[in-house]
Amino acid sequence: MAELAKVLRPDPVYGPAGLLIFQSTAFCNIDCGYCYLPSRSDRHRMALGTVSAAIEFVKRDNLVSPETNVVWHAGEPLTVPVSWYRQAEALLTTHWPYGPPRQAIQTNATLINDEWCCLFKEYNIRVGVSLDGPAHIHDARRRTRSGGGTQAAAMRGVSALRRAGLDCHAICVVGEQSLDAADPIMDFFLGEGFTHLGFNIEEIEGENRQSTLRQSDVASRFARFFDRVLDRAARSTFGVSVREVNSLTALLVDPHFGDSRASSESYPFDIISISSRGQVSTFSPELAGLTGRASDPPGFFFGDVVHDRLEDMLKRTDYQRVAREIAEGVTACRATCAYFDVCRGGAPANKLAEHGRFDATETLFCRLARQVVSDVVLARLERDFL
Ligand code: SF4
Repeated sequence: MAELAKVLRPDPVYGPAGLLIFQSTAFCNIDCGYCYLPSRSDRHRMALGTVSAAIEFVKRDNLVSPETNVVWHAGEPLTVPVSWYRQAEALLTTHWPYGPPRQAIQTNATLINDEWCCLFKEYNIRVGVSLDGPAHIHDARRRTRSGGGTQAAAMRGVSALRRAGLDCHAICVVGEQSLDAADPIMDFFLGEGFTHLGFNIEEIEGENRQSTLRQSDVASRFARFFDRVLDRAARSTFGVSVREVNSLTALLVDPHFGDSRASSESYPFDIISISSRGQVSTFSPELAGLTGRASDPPGFFFGDVVHDRLEDMLKRTDYQRVAREIAEGVTACRATCAYFDVCRGGAPANKLAEHGRFDATETLFCRLARQVVSDVVLARLERDFL
């Protein structure tokens, strides 16, 4: 009921957002087998006027704070020229409230060169690269549009970062092929000197309507995989941090643990996605641009940065319908799930893709990325510290 009350109260005050995603373009130069993006062939580039309008939009309604992370993502951001980012960065530097924002870019790394590295350094942009491990695993799913592998190009990008003295974190998508390959995957990441790793499961969401992980014994296999990953990270000769462990331990020591609000993806405007055309979406970033049900707003966009204010979006009946259904899903999770306090209702995009509705509970994503990860990390903490 708490979630429903927040969504339905007449004058909701949302923000500041924890995460603001700028989609400089939806286009991607490669074609991964598990990609969720519906418009990855759309070459439209965000107009610089849209960047300015987006800055004004978030300022008008106090939707950002100094802690808000701005991420260039939701397409391959490096398919837009460096010169465009230089102009966009000048706008952000000049007009962003609280000085230049904390920024990151999530990239497939295939286009990184020395010129990009100069930009990242100049504007202090943190870099996340998508790498699934050694070539025989990475190239099986992360392929060019003509079907070739992309790992060699991605590693050239990583080398350019290293030459420039830039650190990067890697996000590794785990599919069925990876489950028995924890050692080769960690041999690769440790051998290449990665110190910050995150593991995403191959999710059913957005345009990706199936997963190689949809198997009856996947939970136990994923638990063995993840436990082995943590073993290898713990035994490395240099410090390796794993995102999932950091997130969970931060949550456990949070004085508000247990009474926290819905997950970021389920809480209105905690995540704001701005499309290359200036349309605004919230909740799971994977919803932005997605064709939903007949009653859903086109692309799950609730307005645009030029014409709408937050209050306009909150008044829309299609926004309210989506927000109410997501809140009902969180309420159902709270009532039924033993993992609620470490998950807080999961990811609406996965619920929609797997159940066809937002007011559902368990998904493949939450079973592995929330439940199994929690079990593995807590068992290790008990073993090591109790
Ligand atoms: S783990 Fe799944 S069922 Fe449990 S709270 Fe999260 S989304 Fe809901």
